[in-house]
Amino acid sequence: MPTGIYKRTEWHKKRQKDSVLKGKNHPMYGTHPSQATLKKLSESHKGMHCSSKTEFTSEKMRKLWKDPIFRAKQFLASYGKKCPKRSMLGKKHPNWQGGISRFNDIIRNMNQNKDWIKAIFRKNNYTCQVCNIRGGNLEAHHIISFSKILNDFLNKYNSLSITKNRYQLRKLAITFNMFWDINNGITLCKKCHKEVV
Ligand SMILES: [Zn+2]
Repeated sequence: MPTGIYKRTEWHKKRQKDSVLKGKNHPMYGTHPSQATLKKLSESHKGMHCSSKTEFTSEKMRKLWKDPIFRAKQFLASYGKKCPKRSMLGKKHPNWQGGISRFNDIIRNMNQNKDWIKAIFRKNNYTCQVCNIRGGNLEAHHIISFSKILNDFLNKYNSLSITKNRYQLRKLAITFNMFWDINNGITLCKKCHKEVV
């Protein structure tokens, strides 16, 4: 063992700095641990504690994230002016179809639509018409597709705009019988519905 006082020169410091296994110098750079490794790490970290200050903040954040208002605020905050998502929303998006999907949602959220779904379920005694299983995840399937009916409806009132006259069209939709025709619906379970569409 060497004894005495060793002075660390600038050269030593530089050499030490260069040899630090960081970033690209690290042997694990660019590799990802396997699921098994992650599980081992998780097991070995069980029961470990952070400093009380860190535990206090993480506990506080966990509680905050449970609050829907806080989550909504965080979500809105993430939509800053420079956010690329925002600049591509709605009319600015190349796939913008003139507000059709928003209008689609308006119709689907109408009480009349909810009543139509209930009526279809009642008609088929809450039983999937393909696999004959009663109950479960039921959906009402349109025999003539919803998009076709919507197309016919918009063609009939093509003088109105789905963005500017949205609420006028909503009122007209109530009187458009094809939307609410009980003969045009069939009860299917979620699984069978996927196969039909
Ligand atoms: Zn089914």
